[in-house]
Amino acid sequence: MDFALSKEHEAFREELLTYLDELREKRVIDLDAVREEYDEDPKALRTKGLAFVRQLGKDGWLGIGVPKKYGGRGLGFVEQWLFLEELKYQSLPTGQLLIQSIIPALVFLANDEIRKRFLPLCMSGDVMFAIGYSEPNAGSDLAALTTRATKTDGGYKVNGTKIWTTNAQNSTHLWLAARTGAPDSRHKGISLFIMPTDQPGVTIQPIITQADEQTNQVFLDDVFVEEALRVGEENEGWKFIMAQLNFERLFCISEMLREFHSLLHWWKSNKPDDPSEYEFERRELAKVAADIEVCRLMAKRAAWMMDTGRVPEAEASISKVFYSTTHLRASIEGLKIMGPAGQIRFGENGAPAFGRIERGYRATPVYNFGAGANEIQRDIIANRGLDLPRIR
Ligand SMILES: Cc1cc2nc3c(=O)[nH]c(=O)nc-3n(C[C@H](O)[C@H](O)[C@H](O)COP(=O)(O)OP(=O)(O)OC[C@H]3O[C@@H](n4cnc5c(N)ncnc54)[C@H](O)[C@@H]3O)c2cc1C
Repeated sequence: MDFALSKEHEAFREELLTYLDELREKRVIDLDAVREEYDEDPKALRTKGLAFVRQLGKDGWLGIGVPKKYGGRGLGFVEQWLFLEELKYQSLPTGQLLIQSIIPALVFLANDEIRKRFLPLCMSGDVMFAIGYSEPNAGSDLAALTTRATKTDGGYKVNGTKIWTTNAQNSTHLWLAARTGAPDSRHKGISLFIMPTDQPGVTIQPIITQADEQTNQVFLDDVFVEEALRVGEENEGWKFIMAQLNFERLFCISEMLREFHSLLHWWKSNKPDDPSEYEFERRELAKVAADIEVCRLMAKRAAWMMDTGRVPEAEASISKVFYSTTHLRASIEGLKIMGPAGQIRFGENGAPAFGRIERGYRATPVYNFGAGANEIQRDIIANRGLDLPRIR
């Protein structure tokens, strides 16, 4: 693969930057206010963020990867990755899982009825999704999930508890995995549903993480879902879950890059003129910079592979493990370099580098298990990447 961007990709990036500049200049939307809101909790999409995402939809950006026959721009995964990276770097919301998961799942997997009903709403930003897979007793071992969907007139009644359902509080729908087969049917008895969150019986209870970000526990008590909102056949949800997770492999690194650039800016403005006094710090910063660049190239490789029709299983797992460990290490090095002032919390007066490193230090441990625990990723690398025998 060519690690440099092609002329077309460069042109796409230019077009995006010009678009964002125009939004700012014409004051179509107050980008600073959107950023301020996003900065407070990048995992959630709230009022201003939602308005911005709808503007993206109106201007055709949410459908960049959707084939032209379905009303999109028909561009590839590299363009989608560039789009996500640029917006995240500028601290602007991207529509959470729309581009990275839901839209490609609808394009490639859903039947015509669901596609016709939801794709236009996704491309306009009028629906938002949260992923309802994990449960208190089913995380890495997702096939153990017990939330049950029982057949009733015209649809299903769903009962159970989901946990870590990020952004459920601002979502219109859950992309929900529920058991429709026998209790011990494991992955062969799971179906996938698009469940409206405004249905009676849905209770969303916040869980605030140590990085002050909100995720949720969601209680489902006799919640009705119409049969037409089942994605795929009954008991065949597992393949949709796996495919959706594959689309999540469009990995972004710009949150870490932005933190690192804030740290660099702080370091250059705060250290005295003679850099030889700071040899150790210079070396640590250079090491982190090199690793961030490796993360970027790995992420581009995954997007490029997806454009060539392959699923980057082991490659994306390598990328995920390396990213999560690099991000944590970058935060630790940043805090060491900043000294005691580095402990001033994000949002408090006098926090160096806008408190981004301090918050990064609290936020990054979650990447070790979010989107699949690193231990599981290492199994994937061993089995599917290195062709090593399975342990069990
Ligand atoms: C902030 C946050 C946001 C999240 N957002 C979402 C979301 O939006 N939607 C959603 O569905 N889920 C979400 N998750 C859930 C996430 O995907 C799970 O936390 C993850 O899959 C791990 O599951 P678990 O928490 O049950 O841990 P467990 O599976 O219980 O794992 C606990 C520990 O045991 C280790 N372990 C488990 N199995 C193995 C094994 N086979 N081999 C080696 N080690 C193993 C793990 O590595 C881990 O260290 C989120 C989680 C967090 C914390």
